[in-house]
Amino acid sequence: MEQYDRINNTACALYGSRACALLNQRSCAECPVQQNAGKNAEETADLVERFEALLPEGGIAPLFENETCTLCKTEPKGEATGYAILDFGHSEPKELHARKLFRKGTVGFMVPLQFACCRACRNRLLLSSYLPLLVPLVLTALIVPFVTVPHWSQALRAAASWLPLALVLFGIVGGYGIGKLLQIFLRKPFDRVMYFDLLKHPVSQAMTEKGWFPLFGEAYPQPVLSKKRIRYGLGSAPSAALNGKNAENAEESD
Ligand SMILES: [Zn+2]
Repeated sequence: MEQYDRINNTACALYGSRACALLNQRSCAECPVQQNAGKNAEETADLVERFEALLPEGGIAPLFENETCTLCKTEPKGEATGYAILDFGHSEPKELHARKLFRKGTVGFMVPLQFACCRACRNRLLLSSYLPLLVPLVLTALIVPFVTVPHWSQALRAAASWLPLALVLFGIVGGYGIGKLLQIFLRKPFDRVMYFDLLKHPVSQAMTEKGWFPLFGEAYPQPVLSKKRIRYGLGSAPSAALNGKNAENAEESD
Protein backbone atom coordinates (compact mmCIF):
# COMPACT_ATOMS: atom_id res chain seq x y z
CA MET A 1 0.00 0.00 0.00
CA GLU A 2 2.76 2.32 1.05
CA GLN A 3 4.05 2.65 -2.48
CA TYR A 4 0.79 3.92 -3.80
CA ASP A 5 0.29 6.29 -0.88
CA ARG A 6 3.40 8.08 -2.02
CA ILE A 7 2.16 8.37 -5.59
CA ASN A 8 0.08 11.31 -4.51
CA ASN A 9 0.77 14.25 -6.79
CA THR A 10 -2.69 14.60 -8.32
CA ALA A 11 -1.51 17.76 -10.11
CA CYS A 12 0.94 15.73 -12.22
CA ALA A 13 -0.04 15.43 -15.88
CA LEU A 14 0.68 11.70 -15.67
CA TYR A 15 -1.18 11.03 -12.42
CA GLY A 16 -3.30 7.88 -12.74
CA SER A 17 -2.11 7.26 -16.31
CA ARG A 18 -0.72 4.07 -17.76
CA ALA A 19 2.60 5.87 -18.15
CA CYS A 20 2.62 6.44 -14.39
CA ALA A 21 1.94 2.75 -13.78
CA LEU A 22 4.74 1.80 -16.18
CA LEU A 23 7.19 4.22 -14.61
CA ASN A 24 6.40 2.45 -11.32
CA GLN A 25 8.27 4.87 -9.10
CA ARG A 26 8.71 4.44 -5.37
CA SER A 27 7.19 7.87 -4.83
CA CYS A 28 6.26 11.01 -6.76
CA ALA A 29 9.21 12.79 -5.13
CA GLU A 30 11.64 10.35 -6.80
CA CYS A 31 9.94 10.41 -10.20
CA PRO A 32 11.90 12.04 -13.06
CA VAL A 33 8.76 13.91 -14.09
CA GLN A 34 8.36 15.61 -10.74
CA GLN A 35 12.08 16.26 -10.44
CA ASN A 36 11.86 18.23 -13.63
CA ALA A 37 8.89 20.20 -12.30
CA GLY A 38 6.57 18.35 -14.66
CA LYS A 39 8.13 20.02 -17.74
CA ASN A 40 8.92 16.72 -19.39
CA ALA A 41 5.67 14.91 -18.64
CA GLU A 42 4.71 14.48 -22.29
CA GLU A 43 8.17 13.37 -23.37
CA THR A 44 8.31 10.89 -20.52
CA ALA A 45 4.90 9.47 -21.37
CA ASP A 46 6.05 9.08 -24.97
CA LEU A 47 9.28 7.36 -23.93
CA VAL A 48 7.47 4.99 -21.62
CA GLU A 49 5.01 4.07 -24.36
CA ARG A 50 7.89 3.32 -26.70
CA PHE A 51 9.44 1.20 -23.98
CA GLU A 52 6.28 -0.85 -23.62
CA ALA A 53 6.01 -1.33 -27.37
CA LEU A 54 9.47 -2.93 -27.32
CA LEU A 55 8.47 -5.56 -24.77
CA PRO A 56 7.33 -9.01 -25.87
CA GLU A 57 3.61 -9.68 -25.98
CA GLY A 58 2.14 -10.09 -22.51
CA GLY A 59 4.94 -8.02 -20.99
CA ILE A 60 7.51 -9.26 -18.55
CA ALA A 61 5.54 -9.08 -15.30
CA PRO A 62 4.37 -12.74 -15.60
CA LEU A 63 8.02 -13.75 -15.20
CA PHE A 64 8.20 -12.48 -11.64
CA GLU A 65 4.55 -13.05 -10.81
CA ASN A 66 4.69 -16.79 -11.41
CA GLU A 67 4.21 -18.80 -8.26
CA THR A 68 6.09 -21.72 -9.75
CA CYS A 69 9.61 -21.66 -11.12
CA THR A 70 9.93 -20.12 -14.59
CA LEU A 71 13.29 -21.85 -15.13
CA CYS A 72 12.32 -25.50 -14.43
CA LYS A 73 11.88 -27.60 -17.57
CA THR A 74 10.73 -30.72 -15.74
CA GLU A 75 7.32 -31.25 -14.15
CA PRO A 76 6.23 -30.53 -11.53
CA LYS A 77 7.90 -27.15 -11.49
CA GLY A 78 9.35 -26.09 -8.18
CA GLU A 79 7.78 -23.48 -5.96
CA ALA A 80 9.20 -20.03 -6.69
CA THR A 81 11.19 -18.85 -3.68
CA GLY A 82 13.34 -16.12 -5.24
CA TYR A 83 14.43 -14.46 -8.44
CA ALA A 84 17.19 -14.80 -10.98
CA ILE A 85 17.68 -11.28 -12.30
CA LEU A 86 19.32 -10.45 -15.60
CA ASP A 87 19.68 -6.95 -17.06
CA PHE A 88 18.81 -6.30 -20.68
CA GLY A 89 19.49 -3.19 -22.71
CA HIS A 90 18.12 -1.77 -25.96
CA SER A 91 19.74 0.63 -28.38
CA GLU A 92 16.49 2.64 -28.39
CA PRO A 93 15.76 5.39 -27.59
CA LYS A 94 18.53 7.59 -28.96
CA GLU A 95 17.54 10.32 -26.46
CA LEU A 96 18.95 8.22 -23.63
CA HIS A 97 22.24 7.52 -25.35
CA ALA A 98 24.22 9.59 -22.87
CA ARG A 99 25.15 6.42 -21.03
CA LYS A 100 27.87 4.60 -22.90
CA LEU A 101 28.44 2.10 -20.17
CA PHE A 102 28.74 -1.16 -21.93
CA ARG A 103 30.86 -2.78 -24.54
CA LYS A 104 27.72 -3.25 -26.61
CA GLY A 105 28.00 0.45 -27.22
CA THR A 106 25.16 2.81 -26.58
CA VAL A 107 22.28 1.73 -24.43
CA GLY A 108 18.94 3.49 -24.25
CA PHE A 109 16.43 1.52 -22.23
CA MET A 110 17.56 -0.91 -19.58
CA VAL A 111 15.28 -3.42 -17.95
CA PRO A 112 15.75 -6.26 -15.47
CA LEU A 113 14.22 -9.62 -16.41
CA GLN A 114 13.25 -11.17 -13.10
CA PHE A 115 12.73 -14.91 -13.42
CA ALA A 116 10.78 -16.45 -10.54
CA CYS A 117 13.02 -19.29 -9.50
CA CYS A 118 12.83 -22.36 -7.26
CA ARG A 119 15.45 -23.41 -4.72
CA ALA A 120 16.84 -26.23 -6.88
CA CYS A 121 17.36 -23.98 -9.91
CA ARG A 122 18.88 -21.30 -7.71
CA ASN A 123 21.30 -23.85 -6.22
CA ARG A 124 22.38 -24.99 -9.67
CA LEU A 125 23.06 -21.39 -10.75
CA LEU A 126 24.88 -20.69 -7.47
CA LEU A 127 27.02 -23.83 -7.60
CA SER A 128 28.06 -23.07 -11.14
CA SER A 129 29.01 -19.49 -10.32
CA TYR A 130 31.05 -20.53 -7.27
CA LEU A 131 33.01 -23.37 -8.88
CA PRO A 132 35.94 -21.27 -10.19
CA LEU A 133 36.37 -19.94 -6.64
CA LEU A 134 35.47 -23.07 -4.70
CA VAL A 135 37.74 -25.57 -6.48
CA PRO A 136 40.98 -23.55 -6.03
CA LEU A 137 40.10 -22.95 -2.37
CA VAL A 138 39.56 -26.64 -1.66
CA LEU A 139 42.55 -27.74 -3.72
CA THR A 140 44.87 -25.21 -2.08
CA ALA A 141 43.60 -26.19 1.36
CA LEU A 142 44.50 -29.80 0.52
CA ILE A 143 47.97 -28.85 -0.73
CA VAL A 144 48.96 -26.46 2.07
CA PRO A 145 49.69 -29.18 4.68
CA PHE A 146 52.19 -30.79 2.30
CA VAL A 147 54.19 -27.59 1.91
CA THR A 148 53.98 -26.45 5.54
CA VAL A 149 54.52 -29.62 7.61
CA PRO A 150 58.35 -29.79 7.80
CA HIS A 151 58.58 -33.55 7.23
CA TRP A 152 56.71 -33.36 3.92
CA SER A 153 58.00 -30.00 2.75
CA GLN A 154 61.61 -31.13 3.24
CA ALA A 155 60.93 -34.22 1.17
CA LEU A 156 59.38 -32.03 -1.55
CA ARG A 157 62.29 -29.58 -1.52
CA ALA A 158 64.70 -32.48 -1.73
CA ALA A 159 62.99 -33.56 -4.93
CA ALA A 160 63.10 -30.04 -6.41
CA SER A 161 63.45 -26.74 -4.59
CA TRP A 162 60.63 -25.13 -6.58
CA LEU A 163 58.16 -27.97 -6.00
CA PRO A 164 56.33 -26.58 -2.91
CA LEU A 165 55.70 -23.22 -4.59
CA ALA A 166 54.69 -24.92 -7.82
CA LEU A 167 52.18 -27.06 -5.93
CA VAL A 168 50.55 -24.03 -4.30
CA LEU A 169 50.41 -22.23 -7.63
CA PHE A 170 48.86 -25.30 -9.18
CA GLY A 171 46.23 -25.28 -6.42
CA ILE A 172 45.24 -21.73 -7.29
CA VAL A 173 45.64 -21.56 -11.06
CA GLY A 174 44.89 -25.22 -11.77
CA GLY A 175 41.94 -25.12 -9.38
CA TYR A 176 40.48 -22.15 -11.22
CA GLY A 177 40.88 -23.98 -14.52
CA ILE A 178 39.29 -27.15 -13.16
CA GLY A 179 36.44 -25.06 -11.73
CA LYS A 180 35.87 -23.46 -15.13
CA LEU A 181 35.91 -26.88 -16.83
CA LEU A 182 33.45 -28.30 -14.30
CA GLN A 183 31.24 -25.29 -14.98
CA ILE A 184 31.18 -26.23 -18.67
CA PHE A 185 30.65 -29.95 -17.96
CA LEU A 186 27.65 -29.17 -15.77
CA ARG A 187 25.88 -27.21 -18.49
CA LYS A 188 24.51 -30.24 -20.29
CA PRO A 189 22.88 -32.00 -17.32
CA PHE A 190 21.61 -28.67 -15.96
CA ASP A 191 20.26 -27.62 -19.37
CA ARG A 192 18.12 -30.77 -19.39
CA VAL A 193 16.23 -29.87 -16.23
CA MET A 194 16.11 -26.08 -16.42
CA TYR A 195 16.79 -23.02 -18.56
CA PHE A 196 20.33 -22.98 -17.24
CA ASP A 197 21.24 -20.53 -19.99
CA LEU A 198 18.76 -17.79 -19.18
CA LEU A 199 19.15 -16.42 -22.69
CA LYS A 200 17.50 -19.58 -24.09
CA HIS A 201 14.37 -18.88 -22.06
CA PRO A 202 11.39 -18.09 -24.34
CA VAL A 203 10.97 -14.62 -22.82
CA SER A 204 14.68 -13.81 -23.31
CA GLN A 205 14.35 -15.04 -26.90
CA ALA A 206 11.29 -12.88 -27.46
CA MET A 207 13.24 -9.93 -26.02
CA THR A 208 16.16 -10.61 -28.35
CA GLU A 209 13.80 -10.66 -31.32
CA LYS A 210 12.65 -7.19 -30.30
CA GLY A 211 16.22 -5.91 -30.30
CA TRP A 212 17.11 -6.32 -26.62
CA PHE A 213 20.47 -7.73 -25.62
CA PRO A 214 21.86 -8.95 -22.32
CA LEU A 215 24.11 -6.34 -20.74
CA PHE A 216 26.48 -8.94 -19.31
CA GLY A 217 27.43 -12.14 -21.09
CA GLU A 218 26.63 -13.67 -24.46
CA ALA A 219 25.83 -17.19 -23.23
CA TYR A 220 25.16 -18.56 -19.78
CA PRO A 221 25.26 -15.13 -18.20
CA GLN A 222 25.39 -15.18 -14.41
CA PRO A 223 22.18 -13.69 -13.04
CA VAL A 224 21.87 -11.89 -9.72
CA LEU A 225 20.11 -14.30 -7.36
CA SER A 226 17.86 -12.63 -4.86
CA LYS A 227 15.05 -13.51 -2.48
CA LYS A 228 13.47 -10.16 -3.26
CA ARG A 229 12.73 -8.71 -6.62
CA ILE A 230 13.32 -5.20 -7.90
CA ARG A 231 10.03 -3.50 -7.19
CA TYR A 232 10.46 -0.05 -8.69
CA GLY A 233 11.37 1.32 -12.07
CA LEU A 234 10.64 0.45 -15.70
CA GLY A 235 9.75 -3.20 -16.20
CA SER A 236 8.99 -3.91 -12.54
CA ALA A 237 5.32 -2.94 -12.44
CA PRO A 238 2.93 -5.81 -11.61
CA SER A 239 0.38 -6.75 -14.29
CA ALA A 240 -2.55 -5.67 -12.13
CA ALA A 241 -1.23 -2.10 -11.95
CA LEU A 242 -0.71 -2.06 -15.71
CA ASN A 243 -4.13 -3.49 -16.40
CA GLY A 244 -5.60 -0.46 -14.69
CA LYS A 245 -6.96 -2.21 -11.63
CA ASN A 246 -7.28 -0.29 -8.42
CA ALA A 247 -3.77 0.47 -7.25
CA GLU A 248 -4.40 -1.07 -3.87
CA ASN A 249 -5.37 -4.37 -5.41
CA ALA A 250 -2.24 -4.17 -7.46
CA GLU A 251 0.00 -4.27 -4.43
CA GLU A 252 1.37 -7.74 -3.97
CA SER A 253 0.74 -9.60 -0.78
CA ASP A 254 4.35 -10.07 0.34
ZN1 LIG B 1 13.21 -24.41 -10.95
